[in-house]
Amino acid sequence: MNPPAVDIEITLGVTVLTTFVLIYSAELFSGHIRRAQRPLRDAVFSLFGLIGQPMVSGVIVGGIAGHLAAQWFPSHSNSLQGISFWLLCPLLFVGMELAHYTIHRYAHEWRWLWKIHRTHHSGLDMNSGLLYRYNLFWIFLLPQPWVGAFASYSGCYESFAIAVFITYIINVLTHTAFRWDLYLRTKAPWSEPLWWVLERTITLPDTHHAHHSYGRNAHPNGNYAVSLFLFDVVFGTAKIPNTRQKLFGLPIARRLHWAEEIFWPVVRKPLLPKAEPPQQS
Ligand SMILES: [Zn+2]
Ligand SMILES: [Zn+2]
Repeated sequence: MNPPAVDIEITLGVTVLTTFVLIYSAELFSGHIRRAQRPLRDAVFSLFGLIGQPMVSGVIVGGIAGHLAAQWFPSHSNSLQGISFWLLCPLLFVGMELAHYTIHRYAHEWRWLWKIHRTHHSGLDMNSGLLYRYNLFWIFLLPQPWVGAFASYSGCYESFAIAVFITYIINVLTHTAFRWDLYLRTKAPWSEPLWWVLERTITLPDTHHAHHSYGRNAHPNGNYAVSLFLFDVVFGTAKIPNTRQKLFGLPIARRLHWAEEIFWPVVRKPLLPKAEPPQQS
């Protein structure tokens, strides 16, 4: 018999949080966080996301989606329980990846949606804290919390939890300040053919750092996939620079008001004035 969804949900939550704390601590103790340009602002934003996520996605989205599932499919509670994990898990994984690719791409192409996604891009340094840096309403647009509620209702939460966990691990490994991909490639040049395939299949730090950058070798309006980079390759939005990035964030990041960053469109603020250039003496 499958363990109840609530047990898997707790295990998933604890594992995800532990993974994040480990990677963030490594970044902290290696000096990456301290050397960041706006460490306090970054930390407050990430803390807000870290606390807000379970409350919003778990309580609000979960509650609405659970209610809808019971209304729309009243006789289908636990109806997917007998279906093979090996079929459902890949299906959920690919389906959520495609949905995420689509919403992420529109978030860069549509101005109003960009303002909801922009907060994830206004961090001036790459580190795992970016994972929890977002506008409050961004979580409502993500497929995972909605699918999670339907998976719980239909009895396939285990397949959902593993699919989400794979995405989460890739997400942490692509946002981290550590360029482990470049390190491994330099240490083992013989493995290049493997990397050629890997970097066209899944998102790596190289391609996601390029998505968070601007300037030469950057690719802020592309490389949209969270995990399955194949979608970027297939839909023509891929760029694989194979290098370190120099400029992270947005050129206007310092002029964005924190309240608009978190609460737009409920809170709207004009751009802050440009900083005065240092006086020559
Ligand atoms: Zn983006
Ligand atoms: Zn990102």
